[in-house]
Amino acid sequence: MAYVISDSCVACGSCEGQCPVGAISFADSKYEIDPSVCISCGSCAGACPVGAISED
Ligand code: SF4
Ligand code: SF4
Repeated sequence: MAYVISDSCVACGSCEGQCPVGAISFADSKYEIDPSVCISCGSCAGACPVGAISED
């Protein structure tokens, strides 16, 4: 199970630096998580100001 970023992402970028495995990157209009890289540690979810990140 990976974490996912919803459409409520405002592209602030706060989560990107929180990921220990570099699974988060900017794509088009919002950030996204590569499910094949995410280890479901949850660090990014706590860093999001709008609660856009949750476990899939
Ligand atoms: S849950 Fe952890 S590994 Fe997965 S994207 Fe968030 S910070 Fe990275
Ligand atoms: S912290 Fe939340 S709002 Fe900011 S880029 Fe990440 S998912 Fe989007």
